[in-house]
Amino acid sequence: MIRALMIRAITILFGSLLVFGLVVTAWAAPSADVKKSLRIYFVDVEGGQATLFVTPKGQSLLIDTGWAGNEGRDADRIVAAAKDAGINKIDYVLVTHFHMDHVGGAPQLTARIPVGTFIDHGENRESTDAPTVQVWQSYQQLLASGKYKRITSKPGDILPIRGVRATIVSSDGAVLNRALPKAGQENANCKNAESYPADQTENLRSLGTLITFGKLRILDLGDLTRDKEMELVCPVNKLGKINIYIVSHHGWYQSNSPAFVNGIEPRVDIMDNGAKKGGTPSTWDILKRSPGLEDLWQLHYSEEGGAAHNVATEFIANPDGPDAANFLKLTAWKDGNFEVLNSRTQKTKHYSSR
Ligand SMILES: [Zn+2]
Repeated sequence: MIRALMIRAITILFGSLLVFGLVVTAWAAPSADVKKSLRIYFVDVEGGQATLFVTPKGQSLLIDTGWAGNEGRDADRIVAAAKDAGINKIDYVLVTHFHMDHVGGAPQLTARIPVGTFIDHGENRESTDAPTVQVWQSYQQLLASGKYKRITSKPGDILPIRGVRATIVSSDGAVLNRALPKAGQENANCKNAESYPADQTENLRSLGTLITFGKLRILDLGDLTRDKEMELVCPVNKLGKINIYIVSHHGWYQSNSPAFVNGIEPRVDIMDNGAKKGGTPSTWDILKRSPGLEDLWQLHYSEEGGAAHNVATEFIANPDGPDAANFLKLTAWKDGNFEVLNSRTQKTKHYSSR
């Protein structure tokens, strides 16, 4: 009897250890993998841009700094993302162009976290717009402090960030003059495509980057307008196919022409729209109908989009209502696997390599 009880006790003990062991393994596995991953935070800056990349080598690249003002709201949100990523310095801050919603937050950001190098397209080309001139001057003052390195990039340049390959594809109105490796196929979507008038603002000057990480190709063109998109993908597609497309210009209609979106065939779109900025219904349709698209994620519910032109709530970080500054976070591996976390729901969707 006693012997039977002892055997039973030992069995239970081993069983518990086994279960405990399995639980520990299940939790330990992802964190080991995270060290080899590229993490991308899509920070909610209410219709501006702030996208933070942290490479497996521990280096960081922030594309744009959000808006000025609001007592440093956007800078605080970027710093919170950096903290979540476990970094206490931003190595590179890439300024796509000199509009308020992209470079406005730079002084507040540098007051809160150390920055190594700024990367930009050169001079401000929109000297007639007072808010643009104002943020440009603040940016000039930052550079004049002598605390930061500055790189001015042109198409074809490779950024010095370690752990990814970041190629500049557009800068100051110029685009790649030849196709990237393995790209350059004829783009059938160019036939009968509209042609677009030249943009007159800083938007067409946007510093665009294609980031390659193992099998994955990620594209960010800032607010690059349709006229320049066409130069990139027509008559041949100089960029090739894209896995993850950071939707240009917050999903506004001045960007995201059909020939461009259908040409790059993104698998997943991430749109940094605000509640009242970007997410134009006609553009939303172009994005949703593009061949090969699996999911479109939105940083915000778009008021203009209404019921017919917004994705299901689980794909929206900040639905209609009071703003809670939820973010989206993409974690990617070199083998082509990646996943997207919605910080509001704490749910992650996995995308297998293909
Ligand atoms: Zn913008």
